[in-house]
Amino acid sequence: MFPFTLERPGDAASALRLGAAPSAEYIAGGTDMMQLLTDEIRQPEHLVALDGVLDDRIEAAADGSLRLGAAAKMSDIAADPDVSEAFPVIAEALLLSASGQVRNMATIGGNLLQRTRCPYFRDPGVQACNKRNPGSGCAAMDGANRTHAVLGTSEHCIATHASDVAVALVALDAEVRVAGPNGDRAVPIDDLHRMPGDTPHLETVLDQGELITAVVVPPTPAARRSHYLKVRDRVSFEFALTSAAVALDVHNGSIREARVAMGGVGTKPWRLRNVENALNGRADELDTYRDAAEHATEGAVTRAGNQFKLELMKRTIVRALRDAGGRP
Ligand SMILES: Cc1cc2nc3c(=O)[nH]c(=O)nc-3n(C[C@H](O)[C@H](O)[C@H](O)COP(=O)(O)OP(=O)(O)OC[C@H]3O[C@@H](n4cnc5c(N)ncnc54)[C@H](O)[C@@H]3O)c2cc1C
Ligand code: SF4
Repeated sequence: MFPFTLERPGDAASALRLGAAPSAEYIAGGTDMMQLLTDEIRQPEHLVALDGVLDDRIEAAADGSLRLGAAAKMSDIAADPDVSEAFPVIAEALLLSASGQVRNMATIGGNLLQRTRCPYFRDPGVQACNKRNPGSGCAAMDGANRTHAVLGTSEHCIATHASDVAVALVALDAEVRVAGPNGDRAVPIDDLHRMPGDTPHLETVLDQGELITAVVVPPTPAARRSHYLKVRDRVSFEFALTSAAVALDVHNGSIREARVAMGGVGTKPWRLRNVENALNGRADELDTYRDAAEHATEGAVTRAGNQFKLELMKRTIVRALRDAGGRP
């Protein structure tokens, strides 16, 4: 492996100072970063360890909101009764992610910033990857692109965003709390990840050295009737071909508010407001779900290997909405 220093700051202020160096990167649970270091996909000069720096509290507030410290482990969040009762879509998305061992190490902050699973990005033997080597081309465009994105793509990159729980958090309008060399700020999670455009190597709006300190989920009546459905090639330890995070607030048989986001199909966690608009105000029934799901593929661009995702997206949404309501 290439040489780097490992810094262990005792507090957030020291971490921010060390992380501000242009060649520094953070490591939290290390479940993604260690793979990238081993394969020399990432080659920081300084690695700044975050253990003991950020809090891992899981706090349900009296107003119904939820705060997750950035160091909270995926497994602890999934097992928290406040989360599984009031925000089942979050607990389900986490439990369908990775494996028990990975979830015991991995943090919510690191999950949101994990890198794509595009195999060409993760193979140092492949030269053509605009995300890894800007300007080098994209091997996936005419290569094996069965798992790649159909929404938010560009001619420079079609890599899918890999996080499951980010999809649930986008559906729930969560906010990411960020600390940086120039102070603190809050970023709506839907704005955290960038679409590739002509700069696919820039994946988020975070500046060098900025830290995610917490994720805050606002209260919403729909969250209690929420669900995460993940469709994948194997039943566990696999990333999504398609997934849907849905939440419904239903009153007297009519949908007052719907939330729908998808994973496995976008270059970022993908909120489907056109589907939500087609659900809102309509009867809470299967025909409504089917009609609304037709809007999911608007704007989609497929490649040779991933055309099957268009039909699968619609079916995933309908099934997730049915399951959220407990229908057969
Ligand atoms: C075999 C395997 C299968 C997996 N399957 C799934 C899956 O099905 N679904 C899914 O969603 N994920 C999956 N993952 C990804 C896994 O969830 C992530 O690796 C994990 O969540 C990353 O968290 P971490 O704390 O280990 O982050 P690290 O690996 O330590 O860091 C990841 C990135 O986040 C940055 N970072 C970490 N914390 C912060 C912070 N607080 N502020 C700023 N930057 C930070 C690091 O610099 C790095 O760039 C899988 C991983 C593996 C290894
Ligand atoms: S899809 Fe993106 S990550 Fe994958 S090879 Fe192309 S540029 Fe690289």
